[in-house]
Amino acid sequence: MKRREFIINSVLAVGGATLLTGCGQKEVQKSEKQVVKRKFAGKEFPLIALGCMRLPMRDSKIDMVELDKMVEYAMSHGANYFDTAYMYVEGKSENAIGEILKQYPRESFYLADKCPAYLVNSKADVTKLFNEQLKKCQVDYFDNYMVHNINKNTINNYRDNDMYGEILKLKKEGRVKNLGFSFHGDPEMLREVIHEHKWDFCQLQLNYLDWEVINGKELYEIADEAKVPIIVMEPLRGGGLCNLPDKAAAKLKERCPDETQASFGLRWVTSKPRVFTILSGMSNFQQMKENIDTFSNFKEFTQEELQTAAEVAKLIQSQGAINCTACRYCMEVCPRGINIPAIFGLYNVYKTNNNGFMFGVNYNALKDSEKADKCINCHLCSKNCPQGLDIPALLKKVESTVERVSKK
Ligand code: SF4
Ligand code: SF4
Repeated sequence: MKRREFIINSVLAVGGATLLTGCGQKEVQKSEKQVVKRKFAGKEFPLIALGCMRLPMRDSKIDMVELDKMVEYAMSHGANYFDTAYMYVEGKSENAIGEILKQYPRESFYLADKCPAYLVNSKADVTKLFNEQLKKCQVDYFDNYMVHNINKNTINNYRDNDMYGEILKLKKEGRVKNLGFSFHGDPEMLREVIHEHKWDFCQLQLNYLDWEVINGKELYEIADEAKVPIIVMEPLRGGGLCNLPDKAAAKLKERCPDETQASFGLRWVTSKPRVFTILSGMSNFQQMKENIDTFSNFKEFTQEELQTAAEVAKLIQSQGAINCTACRYCMEVCPRGINIPAIFGLYNVYKTNNNGFMFGVNYNALKDSEKADKCINCHLCSKNCPQGLDIPALLKKVESTVERVSKK
């Protein structure tokens, strides 16, 4: 085992409590190829950034060796923005990215974190959670800090506990540089939230599918009119836009033969000028390399490509897939441990290839305790779903579909 691998695995073995040596000294070897940047708050931000919700995994643990390699590659190409949150990777994302980033000088990277609105029941909770997060990330300030996931279930926590005011105090102390919010509500709610305070930025879910078939365009226009800079999350809809249904994939191939599905989806977002960075959840080094390549050999998105994106979105929608982004928020509250994102993922694959036999085989490979028929209809999951899915009803639909098509 190489020395670096040994050290990082030792850190993992003690749950992140041991620190890497050489803190804050690691020199970044700058590559000739740098990712394209956009201005925000008087600084240059990389247009592509690592979202730490889907980190590389090995044996059900975060693969720190792979993550270390990915961060080093990103830093050397100028992609020095990292976005984590309290509940990502079952609460382990902050420790993991903090452990890797602490090797670098603090001023050489941007780190974003979020205050989980659903856990805030008093003003004091904001500072308590914030201090815990700083400690987990091993930093003394966050560049961007957000009220996390404002939606119809968390809006009262955010308002009743004056989360904005509490974070503003942290900003005045210099422990937060920019104050924003991430959002999963409807346009009407966004219009209210965006005008009730002076926000430095907002974080929205934008991609060419949501733009065309849900309300992405409206959300963008509200932030744009309010002149609030935007960070984009779910640009590839949890990987769904890299795994297109056959007809949509064929259309994209015909129109843009040299483009990968991922680069097409990511470049589409860059056509929106109010956006200053795009978070992509990258689960291995190869994905990181491809994304960096897209943004360091950057091509503007053309009018013809916009037209193609609209047509591809309509073809995806016509397949009737479930709009799940595999964020796993529902899994945090399901009392039965039903594997909701896996079940919806299998259904969506079936919708792309129409292979009922394989749908049945893969569905039956799930543990019995994780299958849809164990749902007790409590609806806790739907309350936590940022996409507003009626999960119990969809589980029933998947269950009846798998029963019907796998017997054919
Ligand atoms: S409704 Fe079903 S899937 Fe949702 S939380 Fe309850 S048991 Fe889990
Ligand atoms: S069902 Fe909703 S909460 Fe669950 S993984 Fe999918 S998008 Fe996330």
